[in-house]
Order: sequence, then structure tokens, then C-alpha cells
Amino acid sequence: FEPLASDFYSYESTLLTEREREEIARLRAWLEADVKPIIGGYWERAEFPMQIVQPLADLGVLSYAWDETRTFENSAVFRGFVALELARVDASVGTFVGVQNGLATGSISIAGSKEQREEWIPKLASGEVIGAFGLTEPFSGSDSARGLRTTARREGDEWVLNGAKRWIGNATFSDITIIWAKDEADGQVKGFIVPTTTPGYTATKIEGKISLRPVQNADITLTDVHVPESLRLQNANSFRDTAAVLRATRAEVAWAAVGTAVGAYEAAVAYAKQREQFGRPIGSHQLIQEHLVNGLGNITASLGMVVRASQLQDAGELRDEHSALAKAYATSRMRETVAWAREACGGNGIVLEYDVARFFADAEALYSYEGTREMNTLIVGRAITGEAAFV
Ligand code: FAD
Repeated sequence: FEPLASDFYSYESTLLTEREREEIARLRAWLEADVKPIIGGYWERAEFPMQIVQPLADLGVLSYAWDETRTFENSAVFRGFVALELARVDASVGTFVGVQNGLATGSISIAGSKEQREEWIPKLASGEVIGAFGLTEPFSGSDSARGLRTTARREGDEWVLNGAKRWIGNATFSDITIIWAKDEADGQVKGFIVPTTTPGYTATKIEGKISLRPVQNADITLTDVHVPESLRLQNANSFRDTAAVLRATRAEVAWAAVGTAVGAYEAAVAYAKQREQFGRPIGSHQLIQEHLVNGLGNITASLGMVVRASQLQDAGELRDEHSALAKAYATSRMRETVAWAREACGGNGIVLEYDVARFFADAEALYSYEGTREMNTLIVGRAITGEAAFV
């Protein structure tokens, strides 16, 4: 296990068990060998490399978090470092895992019945089933707690879903999508495991993205989609249960933001050592050193925050405002860091071949998804003052 130079205060070697470090080392070796060389091409073509799904499952990345599938005890801090490691090579690969694992499997783990967990989690963890998570809608993004228009109507042993979803990651190829909809009877948000072959369900790829291009985001329409009661998430009774899923995944997005910053920073350090101007490596000029040091400072400060958030999660004490602050802070510092890294690379900072450009562009999506900076700020503001300022 080789510690990362960007882990300046040695969090990883101090906090992880030997087994956890071995798992990180195996993942890192695979990402460097099999993902890093190909991902720029997939980014340019806006295609997802489906061949990486099985190795991700075989490595255990989709299994670590769940009682039903984990093969060894592991911590949320370890799983955070896994998210960092994925995004450090490519934020789209990290996002694929975030959707499959944190959002889709996480919904079933948190809000499913024992039977639903036993049926679906092993299939999602093995990669046999690909999942997506459909909360956002064309007319409801930040206010999805109140503004959902997708409806669910009970008819005997079935539910009938109608509405539309937007931005749903993995949804052009998912086998199931978790659809969040308002029960017409009680007005509460409920969750449904919807097989994507169900009549009335369509998913259309959103084209023209300039961030996370390999991630396949879709517009979904639901027209009289019939779902049996057995596919309703049995413990999702209101938006509070949806929020419980997001509480954990937001903390992981914060980790992915640190990983994205690390990826850009490492590429900039390497570039600064080999590129010469005025007869010296650019890394020997004071202003370039400042860019790199600012980036390392951001990474180190963010790591402290995400590590502590995951320790709170391990202790069962993670609150919405904890993960909201980590997400807002780490994504903001990431955005600065990728910009400094891109700046240190001059013109080559906007060319895919030098990697920094991909991290620079991808940072924008992480900044906005799973709650924008403004929304997460308001969640923390409510916790500080006792006053909700959303409306
Ligand atoms: P809006 O809610 O329209 O916000 C626009 C701007 O207004 C933002 O800056 C916002 O912060 C600000 N704003 C809104 N309300 C307030 C207020 N009260 N006070 C201050 N400012 C405010 N969703 C899913 O369900 N599943 C997915 O898999 C998924 N994947 C995604 C992947 C990508 C690449 C992207 C870009 C998005 C994805 N999303 C997904 C949706 C994502 O969560 C939303 O984009 C996000 O919540 C913001 O919603 P919005 O884009 O509708 O922006």
C-alpha cells in the first residue's frame, strides 16, 4: 500500500485497517491499469464503459456497505476512501457507483422490507442488476421535498404511476429505477422499485452535457406504469425516508469531490515538474507553487471534514446538516482546486489528453447534484438558527 502524497496528514494510513488498505490498493491498481488509459475516449464520445461494471462488482465496491453482501467488517471512513479513489481517476466512474450503490441499493437498504433487501441487494451488488434513482423532475429539483408532481395511485394490489423525471443517472441502461412519487391518497412521498421493461416507462438520454459525459442521464416518462404492491419500498412512508438515503449519499459526494480535486491536483503537480518555461520547470516558479499549495490546503481541509462526517456515520450520529456542510464545503473547495490545477497547466489544461480538463469540467456536476451549494447551505442555516429559509 503506497500512501498518496496528497494525503498530506496521513489520514488513510492512520485510520484504515490493514485489510481496508489492501482493498484500496487493489482498487487503485485496477483503476490505474484498466480505467485511466481509456476513460478520456469514453468522455469524449459521451459513452459509458460498460465493461467496468463486472470488475467493480468483483472488487467488492458494490458490496462493502450492505449487511447482506459484505465479506468483512468495514467503516464508513473506508468506504469514503473508496469513493475518493474512484473519483481520483474519474468522477463519472465514481458517479456510476454512487448511483448504483449509494442511491439505488441504498434506497432498498434503508427503506426496503427484509424480503426486498434479501431479494435485490445481492443482485445489485453483483452487477447482475443495474439500478437508478429517480427523484428529480422537470419542474422540481431543489424543492423535491415539496414539489414532486409524479403521482402514485393504489388500485387493488397494484400502484399506477404517472409523471416525469429528469437527470436520472444510469437510467438509459438500468434494469430497475427507484421512482419517488406522491401517493394521491395521503399526499406522502413513496418509493417504488420499477423494472424498466414495464409498459409505459421510457428513458431518453440527455445529450450535450459538458460535465461527467460518460454518465448516462435520462429524462424518464411514466404513463400509467403498473407496479405491484410488492415493489413498493415498504418502509418509505414520507420524504423523511428519502432524505435518510440522501444524508448518507451526500457525505459520499463530498468524498468524491475530494477525489476529483486530488485527481486534478496530482495531474497538475506532474505537469509542473516536467513542463519548462524560462529555462526552468514551471513548478520552480513561485506563483505555480502557490496554485499547488492552495490546492493541497483545500484537499487537506476537506479531508478532515469528510473523515469526521464518516466517523459520525459510523457512530450513528450523522445528521442532515453534517453531510450538507461537508457536501457544500468540499465541492466548493474542489471547484477552486480544479481551477488552480487547470491554470497551472496553461493551454494543455483544456485538452483531454492531460486529464486536468476532464476533472475541471466534471467538478461542475458534482457541485450541483445531490443538493446544490445553496440548498445544503440552507440545511445548515436551519440547523444553526432554527429557522427554515427555503421558501
Ligand atoms: P434548481 O432547483 O432549478 O435550482 C437552480 C438554482 O437555483 C440553483 O443554484 C439552486 O441552488 C438555486 N435555488 C433554488 N431554490 C433556492 C432557494 N430557495 N434559495 C436559494 N437558491 C435556490 N437527480 C436524481 O433524482 N437522480 C439522479 O441520478 C441525478 N443525477 C444527476 C446527475 C447530474 C449530472 C446532474 C446535473 C443532476 C442530477 N440529478 C439527479 C439532479 C440534481 O440533484 C439536481 O440537478 C439538483 O438537485 C438541482 O436541481 P435543479 O437542477 O432542478 O436546479
